[in-house]
Amino acid sequence: MDIITEIISPFERQRIQQQISLYKQKLKGSSARLVAVSKTKPLEAVLAAYETGQRDFGENYVQELVSKWKDGPTDIRWHFIGHLQSNKVKFIAPFIYMIHGVDSFRLLAEIDKQAAKAGRQIQVLLQLFIAQEETKFGLDEAEAVDVLSAAKAGRFPNVIIAGLMGMASNTDDSRVVKAEFDRMARLKNKWSTEYACPTVQLTELSMGMTNDLDQALAAGSTMVRIGTAIFGARNYGPQ
Ligand SMILES: *Cc1c(COP(=O)(O)O)cnc(C)c1O
Repeated sequence: MDIITEIISPFERQRIQQQISLYKQKLKGSSARLVAVSKTKPLEAVLAAYETGQRDFGENYVQELVSKWKDGPTDIRWHFIGHLQSNKVKFIAPFIYMIHGVDSFRLLAEIDKQAAKAGRQIQVLLQLFIAQEETKFGLDEAEAVDVLSAAKAGRFPNVIIAGLMGMASNTDDSRVVKAEFDRMARLKNKWSTEYACPTVQLTELSMGMTNDLDQALAAGSTMVRIGTAIFGARNYGPQ
């Protein structure tokens, strides 16, 4: 599949634009902004959303992100939302707006190093492990505290830790999901005063996807990451 030249139909384009306005409407009256998750979708789909004024886009795959960044409009804010390997940080450091999934001290150290090389400060979110599933990535509370303490001591001068990110359990029990999001909100509030310094400014809570949006908004999300509901189901065929 050629990500760049794949063309979408006028119907598809219209559907994307309708979904964007629907979600903008849903977010009115909340403090959350929409990050449109365009992973696996062609640049044409990104452009359809862009035309409605959407500027925040989320991607999970480094190569795909770099190619969209090169060919797309320069005022898009690209968010890296997936699991990032340390050896790939260098490819996105020159342009990335925010890295949501920082799940290790080592990864943050590498982001700091590559940010310095690129001559900029990079905004990151610490990914907290809040779900019941073992398969999800993220820091536990003690690990997050280690990272925040190091940051406050000046260990990562080239990053700004701007908040927390988390993925709730994949369950139909909305009380479980809400409780997990509430816990993130409490930790953010607590840590935002305890570790406040120029490189730790915890204001963002990146939580909520297509299926748990309402619980995330109720818990005070500031960034919702919506993919499927905007761009349609993803096809992970051979690329
Ligand atoms: C893919 C992805 C999303 C979007 O999920 P949808 O269910 O398609 O809305 C959000 N966050 C992360 C971290 C993702 O990897």
